[in-house]
Amino acid sequence: MEINKKQQAWLQMLPSVDHILEIAGADSFFENIPRSVLLHSARLVLDDYRKIILEGVKEIDEKNLSDIMILNKVKAGAKDAMALNLLRTINATGVVVHTNLGRSLLAADAIANLSVIGSRYSNLEFDLSKGERGSRYSAVEDILCEISGAQAAMVVNNNAGAVLLCLDTISRGKKVVVSRGELVEIGGSFRIPDVMAKSGGILNEVGSTNRTHYRDYERAIESDTGLLLKVHTSNYSVVGFTADVSLNDLVKLGEKYHIPVMEDLGSGTFIDFSKYGMLKEPTVQESVATGADIISFSGDKLLGGPQAGIIVGKKDIIDKIKQNPLTRALRIDKLTLAALESTLRLYREPEKAIEAIPTLRMLTLSYNVIEKKAAQLCGMLENIGNSRLEIKLIDCSSRAGGGSLPLLDLPSKCAGIRVKGISADAIKEYMRRNTPPVIGRIEEDSFVMDLRTIQDDELQIIATACENMLKRSR
Ligand SMILES: *Cc1c(COP(=O)(O)O)cnc(C)c1O
Repeated sequence: MEINKKQQAWLQMLPSVDHILEIAGADSFFENIPRSVLLHSARLVLDDYRKIILEGVKEIDEKNLSDIMILNKVKAGAKDAMALNLLRTINATGVVVHTNLGRSLLAADAIANLSVIGSRYSNLEFDLSKGERGSRYSAVEDILCEISGAQAAMVVNNNAGAVLLCLDTISRGKKVVVSRGELVEIGGSFRIPDVMAKSGGILNEVGSTNRTHYRDYERAIESDTGLLLKVHTSNYSVVGFTADVSLNDLVKLGEKYHIPVMEDLGSGTFIDFSKYGMLKEPTVQESVATGADIISFSGDKLLGGPQAGIIVGKKDIIDKIKQNPLTRALRIDKLTLAALESTLRLYREPEKAIEAIPTLRMLTLSYNVIEKKAAQLCGMLENIGNSRLEIKLIDCSSRAGGGSLPLLDLPSKCAGIRVKGISADAIKEYMRRNTPPVIGRIEEDSFVMDLRTIQDDELQIIATACENMLKRSR
């Protein structure tokens, strides 16, 4: 490649990596930066310049090739590399179980236990009464049976894994009867038919999208039918001319033909939300009481615990599941187990669980409490005392999220902000790039934040972020 004199001169002006290391050594910014990070950032900056120069398209401002300017770029790169990728984030979306934002916040008891178990040895797989090897599932099996009424229980990494494991254990090579109305896709490419295929179960669809009857299931039963499966259509609702078969009836059918019955409850909850003025979501206890053989659900959706897949049901099937080699591949980790055990114990007193488990607390937060929080944020924003900032409190609806209670509108209060000279899009981006990031949405040219999912100690952080944004755009 031919390069001209100008390009040659620019290339010669670029400092060497060694020279950058030398000047960085005299700069206190780099005191706590590992040498490998500094080196990597320096190489990236120099490579970048070399590439631009060799392309020969852009005119290079020689001021940018000074030691100071190059070092500033190296600093920015190093700072980026030092920042954590996984960041605590402020959820101002009003979606309580927000999968992209980490679903559930753990209760204080769960955090405390997780910290102890994470920093010490534990009896994870050691039976203290016998002094010999034990099972990691025993940490939560008794409490799960106690609060659900089931004979046996176990837990794996997540509910998708739980469904796969159950199907693989019960129905490999056999037909699984499912209603067409329940062949759902749960975000992130978890589709019941796909999971079925992976498990080696053979999908046997019955009924139609909006209506499936008892006789549809009964007609489908053949000698190679291995399972009757009910899937809670958590993230959508078929309304209008509909019919489906209750778990109760499915269990009766299963008994008649000696075929096991499983329910994938999806979210799964031990709390009857209709007591709190919300729509009814089937509880785990109710499903267990039907006599269904196997019920699976998530740990971090409405349950408000860590990511986990919980399986409860009949002892003989759970015993088989525990012996499936897949269990080892899907096994739950000890930090999760610690957090899960503490979370589950809170359910012994439902009223206390609602106070102590953030997901439940946010779901049942009253409009009045949210309104007060909104007024508080409004006051903080007004205190910034900037006439360019326009604040409005708006009625809005929050969502349960996590594919649960899809039709439920939770009345809430949002704070909407507008700033003269900054577009709503720019505000949204600025807030997203804040430390910690604030995630909201745009409505009618305002950046809107739902107070239901904003924690009390985050109000000031939001106000400060706004203040900084206003200062920077003066
Ligand atoms: C969410 C959901 C799953 C997957 O659960 P994860 O814990 O996210 O793996 C499976 N089935 C249903 C019906 C669900 O709603």
